[in-house]
Amino acid sequence: MYTKIDGKEVSAAVRGQIARQVQELKEKGVEPGLAVIIVGNDPASRVYVNNKKKACEQTGINSFEYAMPEDTTTEELISLIEKLNKDDKVSGILCQLPVPKQIDEKKVLNSIDPKKDVDAFHPVNSGKVMIGDYSFAPCTPAGMIEMLKYYNIPIEGKHCVVIGRSNIVGKPMAMLMLKNNATVTVCHSKTANLKEITKQADILVAAVGKPKFVTADMVKDGAVVLDVGMDRDENGKLCGDVDFADVCEKTSFITPVPGGVGPMTITMLLKNTLLAAENNG
Ligand code: NAP
Repeated sequence: MYTKIDGKEVSAAVRGQIARQVQELKEKGVEPGLAVIIVGNDPASRVYVNNKKKACEQTGINSFEYAMPEDTTTEELISLIEKLNKDDKVSGILCQLPVPKQIDEKKVLNSIDPKKDVDAFHPVNSGKVMIGDYSFAPCTPAGMIEMLKYYNIPIEGKHCVVIGRSNIVGKPMAMLMLKNNATVTVCHSKTANLKEITKQADILVAAVGKPKFVTADMVKDGAVVLDVGMDRDENGKLCGDVDFADVCEKTSFITPVPGGVGPMTITMLLKNTLLAAENNG
């Protein structure tokens, strides 16, 4: 018998707490505000940006949207970010990715003041996560830690296997698990004997980007399985990196897609914005 981890429930609990803290901060005269920059007309990005604005409104955080045309240059985007870096009404800055291909994404992300970098993609914040001394952690991994804590799932002393080594999910997740005293193994596309490694995991994190990649034969009995994937199956339906139907009975806890890790990402963005306002305000 397994427990389905309910990302919406955890998210609602954390957002309630954030809303109370935002109110307390406002009473002290500090107004948390998130600037969201969107460049171009990508429909998926538009949906993400609208969701972020809505989540801000729900928790009392001010949101400021900056929509820039598809042909924006790197310099124009950086010039806006530099203005926002100096703007006291803006506690956090987020540039919705991906940006159009003429824009140098790395230069843009590096131009965000690390104190306002609520996505925590700036190398200064990545470095802080690496040394275990950070205020912001990247939202998706931070959301997974929050879910484990909400369900009282022990991390210390457990073997955590992370499949995926991206800078936004796999690597920071490994660092956060290490900070929480797990023993961590990171796997990637060149890992030999992947199944032998994943079968040793007490906590298995799938951040691969391949639909239903993790199957029951890769999972130890009683493992906790966290699925980061946002993929499409053969019918175009949203699914995760884990074959949920195949794997669930072997697990003790498992996140579904949708309704698992996904809802936590925006919630942790709100939390980082609140932290930024507290630290900078
Ligand atoms: P990514 O940058 O494409 O990284 C994928 C990782 O998976 C890479 O490290 C890659 O290894 C590894 N990989 C690919 N094929 C593999 C294989 N056959 N065996 C073992 N490892 C393999 O992706 P990402 O940005 O981390 O995102 C991963 C998934 O999470 C995507 O579905 C994405 O949409 C989703 N996502 C969801 C959220 C959310 O809020 N829920 C947030 C971010 C991402 P190499 O490094 O060797 O190439």
